[in-house]
Amino acid sequence: MDADPDEDHPRAYNDGWEQIEAGIGNFGNSGQDGFTSYTCSGGYFVATQVSTFLNTYYTDAYDTNGREQVQAHEFGHALGLGHAGALCAGIPIMYFSSDRYFTCGIVTPQQDDVNGINAIYP
Ligand SMILES: [Zn+2]
Repeated sequence: MDADPDEDHPRAYNDGWEQIEAGIGNFGNSGQDGFTSYTCSGGYFVATQVSTFLNTYYTDAYDTNGREQVQAHEFGHALGLGHAGALCAGIPIMYFSSDRYFTCGIVTPQQDDVNGINAIYP
């Protein structure tokens, strides 16, 4: 149930100050209200090329907390977390869908998410 590191891309290069881009756009009826794109090399994120996006096709209809929880989730991906959790007891921000908010009210990272980040960046 831990928000485990993404098994394919477990951590970013750590070679100084890096940049995670946060953008928005209308990406249409894709089934995803947010996504994270990145480049990998040798099984690691190339952290200078990590971008997160909110899909306004969905998020324009969300309230502020609804948009915030999508962005927090995508930042989790940008830092190397994969999906985890089950509705609703102990649900992390890294639960795969926005039911984390619309069903369970989760907006911010939870202890499980913190544990995952601490495992990646000890
Ligand atoms: Zn996700």
